Amino acid sequence: MPKQFKVNNPATGELIAEVKVNSEEEIKQSLKNGHDSFEKWSKINAHERSRLLRNWSHIIQENKEQIAELMTLENGKPLKESLGEVDYATSYIDWYAEEAKRIYGRTIPAATETKRIVISKQPIGLVAAITPWNFPAAMMTRKAAPALAAGCTFIVKPAEDTPLTTIKLIELAHEVGIPTDVVQYVIGDGKEVGDLFTNSEYVRKITFTGSTPVGKSLIKNSADTVKHVTMELGGHAPLIIAEDADLEFAVSQTIISKFRNAGQTCVCTNRIIVHENVVEEFSKKLTEKVKKLKVGNGLEKDTQIGPIINEKGYDKIVSQIHDALDKGAEALVGNQYNANKEQGYFFVYPTVLKNVNLNMMIMQEETFGPVAPIISFKEIDEAIEIANSTPYGLAAYFFTNDYRTGTYLHDHLDFGIVGWNDGAPSAAHVPFGGLKESGLGREGGTEGIEPYLETKYLSIGNV
Ligand code: NAP
Repeated sequence: MPKQFKVNNPATGELIAEVKVNSEEEIKQSLKNGHDSFEKWSKINAHERSRLLRNWSHIIQENKEQIAELMTLENGKPLKESLGEVDYATSYIDWYAEEAKRIYGRTIPAATETKRIVISKQPIGLVAAITPWNFPAAMMTRKAAPALAAGCTFIVKPAEDTPLTTIKLIELAHEVGIPTDVVQYVIGDGKEVGDLFTNSEYVRKITFTGSTPVGKSLIKNSADTVKHVTMELGGHAPLIIAEDADLEFAVSQTIISKFRNAGQTCVCTNRIIVHENVVEEFSKKLTEKVKKLKVGNGLEKDTQIGPIINEKGYDKIVSQIHDALDKGAEALVGNQYNANKEQGYFFVYPTVLKNVNLNMMIMQEETFGPVAPIISFKEIDEAIEIANSTPYGLAAYFFTNDYRTGTYLHDHLDFGIVGWNDGAPSAAHVPFGGLKESGLGREGGTEGIEPYLETKYLSIGNV
């Protein structure tokens, strides 16, 4: 492993920082420290843990502008989106600061008069997290906050492309008094750190957000020590436009769902499935709006679409567009690029494709870019079949004002998150997560603290 990781601005290719890579010994020591500090942290009363989490949230908010700028520098997303992500990240800390005080047990009536039965919850131990580059603040806090609230200790490995935001947030946690061994970060190569995490006897849970292939390998590697796992993996979200949909509204929501973070989110719309009677009108309206999206450096005030994170991501998007065009699709707007491999910046202009079909790569593989492929349907069951024809099951969206069509779609779409006339359903107070190969477990809401707790059953006899 190199001794340092270079962190570059994806909008310009410029070097922003060099970050020290931890050695194997250092990472093992951090894991031991996390394990050793568990006993004390887990015994601190829940109200005190809640207070520390609230203070963490406050200090992040006090530094909001600086954190957002750092995030835009390393990730490329427009500054407005980075500011929004800081709020989104602290909303998880705020939510779980409250949930810390609501970790309830229960009693169960015994089958004999001489027994009492008590069920309690206890934190599971040291939690090791691996996070992606696309939401460097929020993907970390939605794991750290419930873990710390539950009384677990926490260690995170951020993505190589975007470690700076995570480092800053963890430093702020230490500043407000969360002990340095209770919440830690380590820097290193994904595979190497992943192996150290999964092989460690100290780690009781692996929580991961990232691609499905890496998630599968972490599940396999966690088996030997029977660790708990939470997996937030890839997606291929369908967005269905029914014949009766309010097209103006549907277009504005499609823009949000498709083009946020330049299309680099797991819940981004990846396929637009439109009733044949409205497909022309919808495509025209969408194209008009997409033409106005401003592409550029996220630090410039009016930028709406930032760069693609790196060359690998860029190559994948370009090959999906070219594959679709080769197989008969038509670009209504986009298919334009501004990339410089030597300097290291990669922009894809927002693209709308019509006449796509299921044989195109873009309809099978996650795109992670600002490309909107449109396919039409006649009957609603056909739309459902297209929507479900993927191993992924993270998010799905549909637009209709007919309650029968809406409830039918909800009942038949195999996705963990469903937005009905809603292109942005994510929030701290709701359970976020996928079906099928999109993952295991939920983050957010009352469900999001459960994966950090064990259930203990006490039977008292001879009462
Ligand atoms: P990725 O390649 O899987 O990387 C994610 C993290 O895993 C990074 O920290 C990476 O480290 C690390 N990693 C890479 N190989 C590893 C290995 N063999 N063992 C252990 N860790 C390893 O995914 P990405 O490209 O960063 O992120 C995009 C993916 O995340 C997409 O598939 C997206 O859908 C998914 N995602 C899902 C959610 C959700 O909530 N379901 C949210 C956001 C993103 P390095 O950076 O050092 O390689």
